Amino acid sequence: MELLRKKIIQDGRVLEGNILKVDSFLNHQLDIELLNEIGKEFKKRFEGKEITKILTAEVSGIAIAAIAAQYFNVPVVFAKKSESKTLDNETYEGNVYSYTKGKQYRVRVAKRYISESDKILVIDDFLANGQAILGLKEIVDSANASLVGVGIVIEKGFQDGGNLLRKIGINIQSLAIVEKFQDGAVVFKY
Ligand code: 5GP
Repeated sequence: MELLRKKIIQDGRVLEGNILKVDSFLNHQLDIELLNEIGKEFKKRFEGKEITKILTAEVSGIAIAAIAAQYFNVPVVFAKKSESKTLDNETYEGNVYSYTKGKQYRVRVAKRYISESDKILVIDDFLANGQAILGLKEIVDSANASLVGVGIVIEKGFQDGGNLLRKIGINIQSLAIVEKFQDGAVVFKY
């Protein structure tokens, strides 16, 4: 997606530890015009697929999923990362190991919001080692729902997640794939 690649080159910052910071348009301040184009592109990539719900994880996935959902006309459910008194007792859970934070955490969705008749599109901001997506897949699998595909805004193609998830047959659509970071600049695969 040309517009997204341009934005990443223009406003993205490469930090130590192979982290791409995109706070000015995706992770902190939100560029709604760009998010609308991202939403339309996801719709195009999953054209013809029956999707009944979009699943993402808090916090960064919510804005992307909510805007994309307008083009799919389906609800968004976001998995919660923190234990909360306001969350139902009956939840589906997934485990996520975060390499960036160096710790394991759980993601949860109240059982009432996913059922076995659901055809789920998972959306997230980044794909690196694939752990966040595997945690969300665990939730979909526990509910006996079907995982139609995964839409990713930025895939870091030099990390293992993409291969891992494609190998187990998941339809991953990444709108920008980073091949490497070189001298503080982003080199795209496409
Ligand atoms: P994974 O589970 O695939 O290793 O990592 C995915 C999650 O880690 C994403 O949901 C995102 O929040 C975070 N993440 C991984 N790499 C980056 C990065 O380079 N930049 C930012 N902003 N977040 C990242």
